[in-house]
Amino acid sequence: MSQVTLETDLSGVVGARTAKPLEKSFGMKTVGDLVMHVPRRYSRRGELTPLSGLPLGEQITVVAQVLDVRTRFMQRRRGSILEVRITDGTGSLTLTFFNQEWRARELISGRRGIFAGKVSEYRGQLQLQHPEYELFDNREDAPGGEQLDEAAAKAWAETPVPIYPATAQVPSWTVQRAIELALDALGPVPDPLPSELLRGEGLLPLHRAIELVHRPEHDADWRAARDSLRFREAFELQLALLDRRRRAAAEQSTPRPHGGAALERFDAALPFALTGDQRAAGAAIAADLAEPHPMHRLLQGEVGSGKTLVALRAMLQVAGSAGQSALLAPTEVLASQHFRSICEALGPELVAELQPVLLTGRMPAAERKRTLLAIAAGASLIAVGTHALLGDAVMFADLGLIVVDEQHRFGVEQREALRRKGAQPHVLAMTATPIPRTVALTAFGDLEVTTIRELPPGRQGIETFAVPELEMPNRAARVWARAVEDIRAGRQVYVVCPAIAAGEVEAGEELAADEDGAADGAARADARAGEQPRPIANVEDTVAELRARADFAGIAIAGLHGGMSGPEKDRVMQAFAAGEVQLLVATTVIEVGVNVPNATIMIVRDADRFGISQLHQLRGRVGRGAHAGLCLLMTTAEQGSVARERIDAIAATSDGFALAEVDLELRREGDILGTEQSGGRSTLRLLRVVEHGELIIRTRELAGELLERDPELVSAPELAALLTSEREAGHLDNLAKS
Ligand code: ADP
Ligand code: MG
Repeated sequence: MSQVTLETDLSGVVGARTAKPLEKSFGMKTVGDLVMHVPRRYSRRGELTPLSGLPLGEQITVVAQVLDVRTRFMQRRRGSILEVRITDGTGSLTLTFFNQEWRARELISGRRGIFAGKVSEYRGQLQLQHPEYELFDNREDAPGGEQLDEAAAKAWAETPVPIYPATAQVPSWTVQRAIELALDALGPVPDPLPSELLRGEGLLPLHRAIELVHRPEHDADWRAARDSLRFREAFELQLALLDRRRRAAAEQSTPRPHGGAALERFDAALPFALTGDQRAAGAAIAADLAEPHPMHRLLQGEVGSGKTLVALRAMLQVAGSAGQSALLAPTEVLASQHFRSICEALGPELVAELQPVLLTGRMPAAERKRTLLAIAAGASLIAVGTHALLGDAVMFADLGLIVVDEQHRFGVEQREALRRKGAQPHVLAMTATPIPRTVALTAFGDLEVTTIRELPPGRQGIETFAVPELEMPNRAARVWARAVEDIRAGRQVYVVCPAIAAGEVEAGEELAADEDGAADGAARADARAGEQPRPIANVEDTVAELRARADFAGIAIAGLHGGMSGPEKDRVMQAFAAGEVQLLVATTVIEVGVNVPNATIMIVRDADRFGISQLHQLRGRVGRGAHAGLCLLMTTAEQGSVARERIDAIAATSDGFALAEVDLELRREGDILGTEQSGGRSTLRLLRVVEHGELIIRTRELAGELLERDPELVSAPELAALLTSEREAGHLDNLAKS
């Protein structure tokens, strides 16, 4: 067999019978894929314990001799149980193995060895089920007896045992055996990292790290190995992200010079002064647009911090040289609202000049045709729309800038699809979901990040309260009384429900269940108590319930959800904006960007069904005008559950950045960077953005320094090759699709 390397096909090394399930369960194809499957944790066989007085339920290790062996056949189902009695002279214990009769060939009466497992009890008999064991080899022992080598036994007992991520098809020990085979066969592994870096950071060479992570003798071994492998992962990731960013920046695009008549007129007519952060973000973007290379910038800021205005000013700069801009929004409601507010902000003269258009999926054919024509002819300089903008029929005369609103709702391919409609257009992504720096560096490491922290002056603020319906029924009753009070005082109220109708969760709207497992985590007290769980709060029932209440008499109530047609939704939204509808019961279609300054109360039913960022966004819908906002989060989640913690966290702070950190702590890692592609390579192995923030920042610096010194990585050809293959495989795209 030729030299085995990390690229060698797995089946040639471990055999097809083992390789197949490994590929199916974990997507492993090569030896490298297998040996990078690092242990989830390490267990220890433990201190040697005498067999007399064994602690039930504890992990023990004993040195003993096989007394006798017998096989029983199970009566109710097929299969056998091998029972092996062992003794150390002070007591005895039974080992049991299901369907593993073959073990009787080695576990024969008189043999000695060391056995480890968890003590359980079956019919008054202490036993170890499927223990690990190592038998002492008679031949190696001193002549004349099976002398136990105490030192060897102790060493064995203390060796860390790797426990691998496993599936029902591929248990940990199968993985372990396959890895042993692969490690034994593996030839020299070249180290892709420059040797100065290895030395400078005190890293183990790659081959050594791989060996020790799987076959440690001491805890210190696997710790050092794991740290080294994690460092490599972080470093290679940052290098790839920086490399991608550099390549993107080197592309040519049309410069869109500063200022221009349209922007000047707009600024002159602006009824308020820009905040400091808006000015700073605007200046950074203006400078980017004037460059002959495409901008890739993420603009993050609280709901209502004035991002859209910053984006509109960028569009006006591009329009200054007759360039077009496209604004991509995640929902129809949001797209049409953006369109309306952009037209309003521009004023009639600029509207006539720039001819903004709205493109959504549900337009009448004739109107759609007219719109497409205006875009293709270059008559319209601003196109606002949903995914419809990505369609093949949409062609721009000169697309200079793409603005993606609520960036996290879109994947990288969608941004790319729009990018292909222009000659390297500039890209401005916006998000109101604050992203902690380490996540930004990992998931969006190829984007420049600009943050708006300052809110426009005169905002009234929002108070938020958790309303635990089961513990505080009085407070729950007060919720509706409060709504009535505000409405009678001329204000408006939102009520948000997780579902459209009983048993119908809104399609296409991500509930927290998809977003961060909120729904699973919601330990419902009512369900726990064994009662029939109440159905999830839904729009239709809530509308009917409220209309039927005497205290709501005369109040105009309407429902809004994703099951309605585009024009229908628009009609309801406009009626709410105009104050004709006083109480709007909706799903999360109103989540982002909706702007009705007269709305003062946001009531969220079954709030535990939503994720932190969603709730934070929802509450941003109120308190946008002259009156303070109130957000009431109703829930039946039990005190102490993760669901309740999330709600309490939101009630406790209105700082989106602080919440993003809490969110990060409460979320499972996979949900932040997108879940693993089934059958594909997992996105991150050892790196955890929550725990390893410092490492991410440190490796970012080191990767930057290396690229600065040696942009084409001539000094590290293996690293260069790694980057090329990463680029081709598109792993980074998976990562950024959050
Ligand atoms: P975002 O997109 O960040 O949610 P918007 O751009 O929609 O925020 O702004 C929210 C509201 O605040 C809009 O009505 C907008 O006109 C207003 N606004 C924006 N910037 C300022 C400012 N500097 N001063 C006062 N009001 C502002
Ligand atoms: Mg917005």
